[in-house]
Amino acid sequence: MVQAERIAVVGGGIFGATTAVELARTGYSVVLFEQSHTLLSAASSANQRRLHRGYHYPRGMDTVAAVMRAFGAFKTEYGAAIHNRSAHYVAIAKRNSLVTAERYLAFCDSVGLPYREEYPPFLRRRSVELSVRIAEAHIDINELRRLCSARLAAAGVEVRLGTRADRRTLREFDQVVLATYSSINALHPGPVSALPEYQFEVCEKPLVALPPMYLGHSLVIMDGPFMCLDQVAGTRRFLLGNVDHAIHATTVGPYPLIPGPLMQYVNAGLVHRPQVTRFPDFQRFARCFVTGFTEATHLGSYFTIRAVLPHVETTDDRPTLVRRLDERTVALFGGKIATCVASARQVTGLLHEGGWQPLAVSGES
Ligand SMILES: Cc1cc2nc3c(=O)[nH]c(=O)nc-3n(C[C@H](O)[C@H](O)[C@H](O)COP(=O)(O)OP(=O)(O)OC[C@H]3O[C@@H](n4cnc5c(N)ncnc54)[C@H](O)[C@@H]3O)c2cc1C
Repeated sequence: MVQAERIAVVGGGIFGATTAVELARTGYSVVLFEQSHTLLSAASSANQRRLHRGYHYPRGMDTVAAVMRAFGAFKTEYGAAIHNRSAHYVAIAKRNSLVTAERYLAFCDSVGLPYREEYPPFLRRRSVELSVRIAEAHIDINELRRLCSARLAAAGVEVRLGTRADRRTLREFDQVVLATYSSINALHPGPVSALPEYQFEVCEKPLVALPPMYLGHSLVIMDGPFMCLDQVAGTRRFLLGNVDHAIHATTVGPYPLIPGPLMQYVNAGLVHRPQVTRFPDFQRFARCFVTGFTEATHLGSYFTIRAVLPHVETTDDRPTLVRRLDERTVALFGGKIATCVASARQVTGLLHEGGWQPLAVSGES
């Protein structure tokens, strides 16, 4: 057995923070590097804040299986950040949907996801084939951040906020875990020619105020024409998603390319009055499916980069991947947030398999 005296985890998003805690609890000495001044400041907060159970992925059975397997561990660790107070609906678009209502219900039945036919008050019934109320929840990002900070402190992780890890800094560590999501290749130890490709999407997530009839409801229209609106935990505001209009730029390659005008906005928190916005397109699209949306007030937008595997349009799968890159580097690529605890345990398992033992454990044996 070799002793892993020090482990660096790079990336203070939900996957890096959770992994740092898990490793420290196992007995490793862990330093967590996060380049921004707060934890969970990039994709982990600029997302739709849905705690996925599988309902969104009727074509992605691997993603459904992964979130179902992982849910219990997430709930145990972060249960206080699960916000259950909205009624959630999935509606199947009448035109151009890749899944019919019949096939969607058969999918829910086959994987044991409960539902009942029900329509939110603002849904234009003639635009959908069916609407069902589902058992999903939101993530309260402020509570999740608070829990991460508390657990990192309790586990004894040294957290270096505002610190960008580079190859030189990382040399002093025995093992390095890269949990940097859209920058996943930046510290890859291999040659540029060996870097895996991802699809990078520069996304906008508008935050809006909606008429009172929307309060307490969240809706997804799928599956082709895809939009969602989700009430933000503890507020009267909503986040909007849209499969086409949310994406300002898509590139496939080892690194993301961000259009110049958007550079200043990416992972910068809520941008009030952004000079570039697709909000009018979100609004036009939404008006086909819901009423009262002309009264939506745009309060600002979040911008971030989504990283997904390339060429997965058929299944829309969003896997979480744990891979050893070389003898001292492990990459953890986050898919759905629900999988963060399960994948952190996978990283710990990988270190054990490689013969890396925490000091306390190797000292005892
Ligand atoms: C638009 C959008 C909507 C989504 N909606 C949902 C949803 O509703 N539900 C869901 O489960 N998932 C959703 N996802 C996916 C989910 O948000 C991501 O899978 C998850 O947040 C990834 O977490 P992470 O910790 O890997 O990455 P991040 O949160 O991006 O964290 C990576 C961190 O690494 C830091 N970093 C990078 N390089 C360095 C360095 N050299 N040194 C120090 N720090 C560094 C960055 O600053 C960043 O904070 C969505 C994603 C997007 C983009």
